[in-house]
Amino acid sequence: MNTTQHYINGQWTDSQGGKPFDVINPSTEEVAATITLGTEADTNAAIAAAKAAFDSWSMTTKEERLGYLNALVEQYKNRSEEMAQAMSTEMGAPISLSQTSQTGAGLGHLKTTIRELENFEFEEHLNDNAPNDRIHYEAIGVCGLITPWNWPMNQVILKVANALAAGCTCILKPSEISPLSSLLLAEMIDAAGFPAGVFNLVNGDGPGVGSTLSSHPDIDMVSFTGSTRAGILISKAAADTVKRVSLELGGKGANIIFADADEKAVVRGVRHCFQNTGQSCNAPTRMIVERSIYDQAVQTAIDTTHQTTVGLASEEGRHIGPVVSQMQYDKIQELIQVGIDEGARLVAGGTGKPEGFEKGYFVKPTVFADVNNQMVIAREEVFGPVLTIIPFDTEEEAVAIANDTPYGLTNYLQTSDKERIQRVARKLRSGMVEINGQSRSSGSPFGGYKQSGNGREGGVWGLEDFLEVKAIGGWEA
Ligand code: NAD
Repeated sequence: MNTTQHYINGQWTDSQGGKPFDVINPSTEEVAATITLGTEADTNAAIAAAKAAFDSWSMTTKEERLGYLNALVEQYKNRSEEMAQAMSTEMGAPISLSQTSQTGAGLGHLKTTIRELENFEFEEHLNDNAPNDRIHYEAIGVCGLITPWNWPMNQVILKVANALAAGCTCILKPSEISPLSSLLLAEMIDAAGFPAGVFNLVNGDGPGVGSTLSSHPDIDMVSFTGSTRAGILISKAAADTVKRVSLELGGKGANIIFADADEKAVVRGVRHCFQNTGQSCNAPTRMIVERSIYDQAVQTAIDTTHQTTVGLASEEGRHIGPVVSQMQYDKIQELIQVGIDEGARLVAGGTGKPEGFEKGYFVKPTVFADVNNQMVIAREEVFGPVLTIIPFDTEEEAVAIANDTPYGLTNYLQTSDKERIQRVARKLRSGMVEINGQSRSSGSPFGGYKQSGNGREGGVWGLEDFLEVKAIGGWEA
């Protein structure tokens, strides 16, 4: 794979003055590949290509776009092992997780987008009393797509597939930390025969390519997934040109476990928190436990953590891998120390690398008990395998603790009381609630309340995100 070029206007293109940037394998700390951080000139060229392609692409029929997307599904299926290897190498997901969840998420979103596009009506009547009024849904225009490193294809495909399905053209800027999977996707899009300029990829960092995309007058929409910090900067940069900004940001999910929860609730919660080495925006990082089962829950969490093994991303199995980078490793170490200093009870893990690991960004799976929701470790996203456990006495208190956070992405609820399920699910201030270990079905919208963002990806909502609504009066039927 040629990793140093960008994909602009249907061609692999040399950068106009970009600097090299190493992609590091987090298991070995070795350089896995080198990319080029794009410049303003590179970004402008990609935006110009996407703008030129918009008129014809936005006028294609739904059937034509379905044809291209189905061709992409074939490409993705044929090269899924390469995709799994690319993600495992660039961000450290253990290969088994990469082959199943990481690669599978991309394919799943591609198929869901196709299904939604097949069923979507782009033109409709306003109502029976207004025979000459029409409502048309039209592609919003040229889109800048900016994505993080933690679930690379999950994030990228949610944006790329829906933008293209809606009739938009786009410029993808994947995370500079995990660009290899996106370069591979660009090869697949090229092989699927999409017209030149419809999809472009410019590698780069946030302050460079990211901020050019966010502020450029020819970009109609920025769809961003990443940290709340960067989401705020992007919103500000986009304000002068009043572009649509769709944000999928951080989270600090609560997992409320009542005394009547099923016996696997705690084990499930710990494993979910540690999945993808704790690097998921929807991770249930605050386990909020009813006091009558609190001591037992803490012990179960300790036992589950001791059973959690750490290993190289290249090894098959159900272990957790390294975290993504030296920077993330340092941040997690610092936050574990903050937890100790602010008086939370460290019951498993702690600072330093797990035994036997000198190289690689490996972190000890860590659990803090007796956490107070005002502590830094209960408020900030750690983005590593670090669980906090907080006791509660009443249902009202549990809901109050769960909602007392700047975030509102996913909350989790464990109880066998049906009335309580409905009461509590209604009161939780989050875009998603998952109950008794049941996750949401494909086609369900993903997104948050409050500082977790404002967009909804997946299902029909993911398509609508990229559409404008045009109201027409006087249409001759
Ligand atoms: P990040 O915000 O540092 O980077 C995300 C992307 O934004 C990268 O491509 C980066 O280059 C770019 N970027 C950074 N600064 C920018 C700027 N000023 N202007 C434009 N672009 C900029 O996030 P990350 O560390 O890559 O990812 C982890 C974060 O993503 C976590 O906070 C996590 O919760 C969040 N996340 C959210 C969701 C969701 O759907 N809500 C999903 C996955 C990850």
